[in-house]
Amino acid sequence: MKWNELSKRVLKGGSLTHDEALAIMESPDDDLLAVLDAAFTVRRHYFGRGMSIHVIRNAKSGLCTENCSFCSQSVVSESEIPKYPMQSVEQILEGAREAHTLTAVRYCIVTSGRTPSEKDLDTICEAARQIKSEVPIQICTSLGLLSEKQAKRLKDAGVDRYNHNLESAERFYSSFCTTHAYADRVATARIAKAAGLELCSGGLVGMGETIEDRIALAFALRNLDADSIPLNFLDPRPGTPLAGLLRLTPSDCLRTLAMFRFVNPDREIRIAGGREACIGSMQVLSLYAANSMFTIGYLTTPGQGYQADMDMIKQAGFTVTEIIE
Ligand code: SF4
Repeated sequence: MKWNELSKRVLKGGSLTHDEALAIMESPDDDLLAVLDAAFTVRRHYFGRGMSIHVIRNAKSGLCTENCSFCSQSVVSESEIPKYPMQSVEQILEGAREAHTLTAVRYCIVTSGRTPSEKDLDTICEAARQIKSEVPIQICTSLGLLSEKQAKRLKDAGVDRYNHNLESAERFYSSFCTTHAYADRVATARIAKAAGLELCSGGLVGMGETIEDRIALAFALRNLDADSIPLNFLDPRPGTPLAGLLRLTPSDCLRTLAMFRFVNPDREIRIAGGREACIGSMQVLSLYAANSMFTIGYLTTPGQGYQADMDMIKQAGFTVTEIIE
């Protein structure tokens, strides 16, 4: 496969075929730099060398009723994690101020649980209003399954984007979660989009899915018209049903990122949870496919640290994308 021919065709508006996605995923390690170089041609066309920085806020942690087997906050997890109810408006607002000082373009407020209660939604909406009046930062919320009415409330409060990951392929979904269905996730993603919220939807790789499942996820997100695609890499959490799995190799993670870039050429692709643990010393190569990242850690795990993230971006000749105030 001539990888650069692929990027030329994608930039002319052509779509990646399933077989081409498969060829990327099955490419040998000797081709890894060539694959990433081709993905970078596409990434650079749409986003230059900019990296968008996101800061995530776990505003309500643990005690979830759902049984997603990868998640340390689930009802089936015995992980020792902080568990607390909904934070206050002031705490969430303070987190937005901190995120802004870290040059984040977006502040992602996340709560555990199947769906937000009315009381929790009141808190989130009030926090969003106050953030919008004070802090120049985009707001994303990730609160579980949503009704149309709830989505409208978020939009009216000033929330810009809603996160709801498909997580994996439809075929594979019931092997790691049975308390809600893949179709429920698709429905919420569509509701968010219909309410005028940008859609952030991605997934988690390394749960034992096949390469075909990863390809199916990349195309499903394209069909959903996801504006932003976070890709998480399973770092098996002690106390969860997936604790015994092995991590993906760095090369496998990087090929997956490249394939997602080709399938969704002009979408924001974010390196998310597990990048430090799974990609390790090759993390910097992920910047050639992804144009967005979380800093200062994830929901229940720390990252490599803000300064290490900034050094990685700058030393590789990339730039932090600035928010337009
Ligand atoms: S719904 Fe969210 S918080 Fe709850 S178990 Fe699943 S991934 Fe974890």
